[in-house]
Amino acid sequence: MLDKADSNIGGRESSRYNAQQFLLIILDAYFLMTVRTRIAPSPTGDPHVGTAYIALFNMAFARQHGGEFILRIEDTDQTRSTAESEQMILDSLRWLGLEWAEGPDKPGPHGPYRQSERGDIYQKYTQQLLDEGKAFKCYRTAEELDQLRNQRREAGLQGAMKESDLALSTEEVAKREAANEPYVVRMKVPEEGVCVFDDMLRGAIEVEWSQVDCQILMKSDGMPTYHLANVVDDHLMEITHVLRGEEWISSAPKHQLLYKYFNWEMPQLCHMPLLRNPDKSKLSKRKNPTSIIYYKRMGYMAEALLNYLARMGWSMPDEREKFSLDEMIENFDVNRVSLGGPIFDQEKLSWLNGMWIREELSDEQFAVEFQKWALNPEYLMQIIPLIKQRVEKFTDVAPVSSFLLSGMLPITAESFEHKKLLLEDTRRILQFASWMLDAEQNWNKDHLFSQFKALGEAMDFKIRDVLFPIFVAIAGTSQSVSVVDSMQILGPDMSRARVRHALNTVGGPSKKEAKRWEKEYREVAKVLAEA
Ligand code: GLU
Repeated sequence: MLDKADSNIGGRESSRYNAQQFLLIILDAYFLMTVRTRIAPSPTGDPHVGTAYIALFNMAFARQHGGEFILRIEDTDQTRSTAESEQMILDSLRWLGLEWAEGPDKPGPHGPYRQSERGDIYQKYTQQLLDEGKAFKCYRTAEELDQLRNQRREAGLQGAMKESDLALSTEEVAKREAANEPYVVRMKVPEEGVCVFDDMLRGAIEVEWSQVDCQILMKSDGMPTYHLANVVDDHLMEITHVLRGEEWISSAPKHQLLYKYFNWEMPQLCHMPLLRNPDKSKLSKRKNPTSIIYYKRMGYMAEALLNYLARMGWSMPDEREKFSLDEMIENFDVNRVSLGGPIFDQEKLSWLNGMWIREELSDEQFAVEFQKWALNPEYLMQIIPLIKQRVEKFTDVAPVSSFLLSGMLPITAESFEHKKLLLEDTRRILQFASWMLDAEQNWNKDHLFSQFKALGEAMDFKIRDVLFPIFVAIAGTSQSVSVVDSMQILGPDMSRARVRHALNTVGGPSKKEAKRWEKEYREVAKVLAEA
């Protein structure tokens, strides 16, 4: 009886939300406003689950209003941006089903959609701000800036640096200009008063202007900073709503001021709560795998991962846990986003994924999906050259390659017993290797090998001995195919997670050890940087 009553309420709820959605679309059409949202990732590493989470909410918001969701690549940091990272982001979002209407690979009326190709546009708007006296050229050198900061710290000054702090005499400016010295363009920012801006979830937010620095808009190499490019592009790309992570709240006053300087309407801002590790710290790859590729490799279904990300800080009106992207869009209401830090918990994700597998995949579909996941030609062609020398018949394949199709391995402290290495050595090697791999940007097998070699030399171990615990961590046994090849195939997140799992299995450092090891590792890191 109760169940029936409950489900009736559920039914009424969802039809009410459909009507609300309909009303929104009519209202938007009446005011001739097409809702446009965007995801604007910087291609500087592995595709992050946080990017997918923000993309999902932008897409749900746009689609609920009958609007458009677009993708823009923010690659103004040329030293850190790579084409591979961009491609991985595109592939990962697409795998999840978060398709965009316009983007670097989908030309549209507001292109190009890659900031590195929009240099002239930013030049033009920077010049406009300079001409109108809303920005200024700053010839201060890095040393002078350091000095200024130190002086301010010593004098106990808390506020941000302003134009008046940076000013040079007119003659000095003329001298540096004549000598063609490098300069940056900074925005002018009020010295006092309060900036108030609206956030869709938090209402009015107030920030003292004294805390806002005169942000660099154009770097000395002529490239814009995030702030300028982001504001100019959001305006030119007709973005109406910006849903982004809460780490950008402190940038909002600068953005609002730029919109005012240009006389443009500012999109509505909505700062989403950040994803957190189970210990409540900000989700970071040091504690939790963060790459979408890891979750794909772990064998999660795209639909389940998306469903789980939707549950981060948001719930369906009837609180049900399992729902599809379409169901989310149908019922989406941004006001149901809760501001408490959502915890990204792999166990919960696994539980949800299990439901998806059992309830949504027939045996035939399971077979197809599993084949796509593990036995696809691309993956097999990475594994086969590695294992071919080790097998005599096909029945040998699964035993030698099963670790390449697994998640965390069933290792114990005994797995690390070694005739020469003491337990203490093994623990130190695993911890140092874990720090080394966390910082590694170049996930290439030859490079990884030379890094391990350097690690061994710096720690006074033979390469063979240093690699022993790594073999066990990565492959479950030291009698395995090349460990660096395996790490290249498994990818950074899975490899890092396995080394971390191994370290936990043998016992990570005590508080006292951690301090000593960190100090020792700082020296080792210097050697690694040279290798
Ligand atoms: N490029 C920024 C990022 O990587 C975009 C922030 C924004 O959405 O304004 O997160």
